[in-house]
Amino acid sequence: MTVDTTRYKIVLVDDNIATLSQGKSLLKAFFMVFTIKSAAALFKHLEHDIPDLILLDVEMPGMDGFEAIAILKADIRYRDIPVIFLTSRSDEASERKGFSLGAADYITKPFSGPLLQKRISNQLLYKRVEAAVRDSSGSLEVMAGEITKANERIRMLLDKTPLCARLWDSDGKMIDCNEAAVEFFGFMDKEECMRRYSELYPEYQPDGQLSVEKVKKCLDKAFKEGKYAFEWTYKMLDGTLIPAEVVLVKVEYRDGYIVAGYTRDLREQITLIKEMRRAELAEESSKAKSRFLANMSHEMRTPLNVVLGITGLMLEEDTPAPDYKENLMKIGAAGNTLLRLINDVLDISKIEAGKLELTPVTYEVPSLLNEIITFSMLRIEDRPITFVLNINENLPYNLYGDDLRVKQIINNLLSNAFKYTKKGTVSLGITAEPDRSMSGQVWMNITVSDTGIGIHEEDIKKLFTDYYQVESETNRKTEGTGLGLSITKRLVEMMNGEISVESEFEKGSVYRVRIRQKCYSTTTIGPAVMENIKNFRYTEDKKIARNKLVRTDLSFAKVLVVDDMQPNLDVAAGLLGKYKMQVDCVLNGQGAVDLIKNKKPVYNAIFMDHMMPGGMDGIETAIAIRNLGTEYAQQIPIIALTANAIAGTEDMFYSNGFQDFISKPINIMHLDSILRTWINPDFSFAKNGKM
Ligand code: ADP
Repeated sequence: MTVDTTRYKIVLVDDNIATLSQGKSLLKAFFMVFTIKSAAALFKHLEHDIPDLILLDVEMPGMDGFEAIAILKADIRYRDIPVIFLTSRSDEASERKGFSLGAADYITKPFSGPLLQKRISNQLLYKRVEAAVRDSSGSLEVMAGEITKANERIRMLLDKTPLCARLWDSDGKMIDCNEAAVEFFGFMDKEECMRRYSELYPEYQPDGQLSVEKVKKCLDKAFKEGKYAFEWTYKMLDGTLIPAEVVLVKVEYRDGYIVAGYTRDLREQITLIKEMRRAELAEESSKAKSRFLANMSHEMRTPLNVVLGITGLMLEEDTPAPDYKENLMKIGAAGNTLLRLINDVLDISKIEAGKLELTPVTYEVPSLLNEIITFSMLRIEDRPITFVLNINENLPYNLYGDDLRVKQIINNLLSNAFKYTKKGTVSLGITAEPDRSMSGQVWMNITVSDTGIGIHEEDIKKLFTDYYQVESETNRKTEGTGLGLSITKRLVEMMNGEISVESEFEKGSVYRVRIRQKCYSTTTIGPAVMENIKNFRYTEDKKIARNKLVRTDLSFAKVLVVDDMQPNLDVAAGLLGKYKMQVDCVLNGQGAVDLIKNKKPVYNAIFMDHMMPGGMDGIETAIAIRNLGTEYAQQIPIIALTANAIAGTEDMFYSNGFQDFISKPINIMHLDSILRTWINPDFSFAKNGKM
């Protein structure tokens, strides 16, 4: 590149006029040349003009060249002006001194024109290059400074964020992480964090994936899709599991791509959600409790009103009025309603507490059907209702499931069908089909339909809600708790099934249920069973006699009843007395132990209350009796009378010396079967002399 040098200002300082004019004539074609006769004059000139270069003589009167250069180099205004000595002093010491004082060059006289011009040009070139380098290095420095600052800011942003950030290269290797990650994961520094990061993977993630596989999959997705968010659980170095949300973002880096990952700790959020849910549940449960209490008190008041009202009326009469039996029946019916209410409430509370467990057994379908038929017969009462049973001989003979709960489902639906159908037809259909998703299982399809009062469309949605009862003129609320269908629905759900209803107001309703039962055998109920119940029809013309209890004469027997409550003793003694037995009563356990010890009289059985606060309870008394040691005391049947409805108590009775148990209120059918089992005319301790 050629540079026009004529605009460069050169000052030639020499006390010798001849040198000045020679220099000027040699250089003027190339530079703008100023000639100055002394160092003092040079400084004057510098005050108003700064040259690009100074040619300086050494030996001058007044201030010599060495003194002058020393001043120039010490002054910030002039020190960058290159100074070339142009002198007749050619000794090495002078040269050294000149250079040491900051001279750019040292030329001795005599000099040739081209040499001088070249040496000047060189200095000017150096100066330009130096200036250019200084300029550019200045801007480079600024740029480098800016970049460093920007980097610091980015690093600060990255390090001071609460998000843990990491960078992975395309081979899935972590190449950087921030301070938040180091701190969060509990490492000493970034290097340790990157080296040991994979130690934070539990073997499996909560979604069942192997951690190593999941991390690979997620990185792949981020590289492919640009961004990928997922949930991840860390196993911290101390073993704590921490749920987190991770977002991976693909970023362009140098000639390829890397992935930046950001982790957010979800513990606080999860705790917050849990707390909110707990608060919601507490509120829901408190509302449900109030609703429950209001409903219970309402439902109990209705039958209690009947019991107390009619009892009051009857007590006012000195002699029984002619309708006393009818009144007693009303009291009995109200009592039964109360009992059903208590049973339903127990079921609901067990279901809600998660305590209701299905007890699967292998059961016979024909005997389930028989019991359902008997139940239906009793529900028809005297009404003009046709009961149709639609089953098929291909129904499995044996199924494995909780038959009592299956019966409860069917009976609840039938009970409603009969309750809300004054006349017409109630039908029950049962079919079974293999469950294709699981071998050894069948779907039991149950359909209960009626031609009764039906249900309005707007009420159907609410049917399976606790305590819900449809109020209408045709459906006067006489009996029921509003719990039947919600219990049914929950039982169906426990059997992995479904329930649905279709209904038309004043036309009738159809309930469809599907439940899963296990089926281990291919035997079907077959034609023989079908012969008995095929297309079973029961109408008012074919009424079966109501099972009126015919009691056997047990006048040979003596029984002992133990209960700490006189009214309970009266009820038990009254019911047992119907069998013409001798019934003795004691109000506490010790009395019973004494009687058995004295063997006077010798009893055939003991009926004993299970809970008797104050003295020995039923279990302690039973143990004390068995411990009397005689064969009589060890073998006499002891039957528990219990008001305890909690499942599992049966085993407790058997393991504590009781032979059997009967629930209060005492069901006369159950009592009858207990007596048939345990009181036998062929066997009596007195008769056999087994004392
Ligand atoms: P409840 O013990 O009161 O019968 P459920 O939960 O069994 O309680 O039934 C809830 C309500 O659904 C009943 O009060 C009744 O109004 C309505 N319902 C149920 N089944 C039928 C049906 N087959 N026909 C007409 N109404 C029905």
